Amino acid sequence: MDRRHLLKNSLALGGLAGLGGCAATPRATPPSAPVTAASNVPIADQAPSLALVRAHADRLFDIKVCIRPFRTKGPNLSVEQIGDAMVVHNYGHGGSGWSLSWGSADMAVQKAMSRSPKQIAVIGCGIIGLTSAITAQRAGAQVTIYTRELLPRTRSVRANGSWTPDSRICLAAEAPANFGDTWEQMARMSWKNLRPYLGRAGNPVSFTDHYRLSDMPFGQPVPPDPNLPPLPPPTWTGLPAQSSDFGRYEERIHDLTPKPEALTGDNNPFPVKYASRTTQLFFNFTEYGHLLTSEFFAAGGKIEMRDFHSPSELSSLKEKVVINCPGFAARDWWKDKSMMPVRGQTGWLIPQPEVNYAMTYRNVQMLSKSDGIMVIALEYGDMKGYNNSDESVNRAESERAVRVIEELNSRFNRA
Ligand SMILES: Cc1cc2nc3c(=O)[nH]c(=O)nc-3n(C[C@H](O)[C@H](O)[C@H](O)COP(=O)(O)OP(=O)(O)OC[C@H]3O[C@@H](n4cnc5c(N)ncnc54)[C@H](O)[C@@H]3O)c2cc1C
Repeated sequence: MDRRHLLKNSLALGGLAGLGGCAATPRATPPSAPVTAASNVPIADQAPSLALVRAHADRLFDIKVCIRPFRTKGPNLSVEQIGDAMVVHNYGHGGSGWSLSWGSADMAVQKAMSRSPKQIAVIGCGIIGLTSAITAQRAGAQVTIYTRELLPRTRSVRANGSWTPDSRICLAAEAPANFGDTWEQMARMSWKNLRPYLGRAGNPVSFTDHYRLSDMPFGQPVPPDPNLPPLPPPTWTGLPAQSSDFGRYEERIHDLTPKPEALTGDNNPFPVKYASRTTQLFFNFTEYGHLLTSEFFAAGGKIEMRDFHSPSELSSLKEKVVINCPGFAARDWWKDKSMMPVRGQTGWLIPQPEVNYAMTYRNVQMLSKSDGIMVIALEYGDMKGYNNSDESVNRAESERAVRVIEELNSRFNRA
């Protein structure tokens, strides 16, 4: 493909297209590059027009820290009797809660409806509580959510928010033998339930292209950057000892999402030697959360602010069927010691609506959303943050992640 044609694409949108194929020696885009005749590269394979992220640490306007509610055995969907109340648990979704919420809610509500209750109580208003409540309404119940915090203050909105249905969902050695089947059912049901939220005003749920970039063949470990301070390694010893100890099930639903395609030569818009692209579903928390909450109220739902300290308090509720969605708080409140904290931190750069893609490069992921550009450090894979319940902000970690993108951007400017 004619290089000048690519430059035309790049300049049209002020983006970074047009540098494809020049991975080893990226060059600046001359503002006066001429427009030339069309190339022979099929439109679908041409480098897209992409805008650069303004990656500067002073544009980090928010840093959020969260604990993934990881349960070594996988999510708890068991049923318990507490006094005269039937309690259906729905917690422990690790790094997959946004993705699996509808499927998990469907399973919990089926159990709850086995008693044909007119009224159901839901404990918790994170993504699991909210989707459980709406699913119970759809099944015909009147629902009250009892919660300590509303969605915007829950741990749920401190997540990354991509379709990651098997991220830290269990330890392979500790999950029940049939967990793969349960997980698949959950994931497929969630996928189906997310469909009506696509294409809505404000894009509560959306698709974006995700570029994976590397200076060396994929699969090789990323060597440390001498210009960046190293991140401290995880301190956990025991099981899990490595990322591969976590349960992996994504292959079961490979038919739902597109496979990554290698980008070579002219169809690689980035100044790196190796690139691939896939298309990924993601959640815009503000719009999606607002839509779900409105849907809940529109169907007659009520929310009562309440802080429970002991399971026995549930028997004081007027509802005799309860769906329990406390997230990581189950560890203290329900004394569930198979809950393990997995700390995660996201940095947020000022939104840039013109940036309409995600990328992963040198263990840093960037995802552009309507309420900010999320950056997250991924060193040490699934072991990162394991058994770490420290929810204080580490600004240096997010600044470091921004610097990785800044360095990539600087290659576009080198002559
Ligand atoms: C950094 C990070 C990135 C992530 N990225 C993704 C991702 O890309 N995709 C994905 O699918 N998932 C992701 N996750 C995981 C996802 O965020 C969680 O699995 C999900 O938010 C869990 O939701 P929840 O409703 O169970 O818990 P929470 O959001 O913690 O909600 C719990 C609710 O229960 C209430 N509650 C708790 N205890 C009590 C009590 N005693 N009395 C009254 N109310 C109580 C709380 O107030 C809250 O309303 C990520 C997590 C982190 C930390």
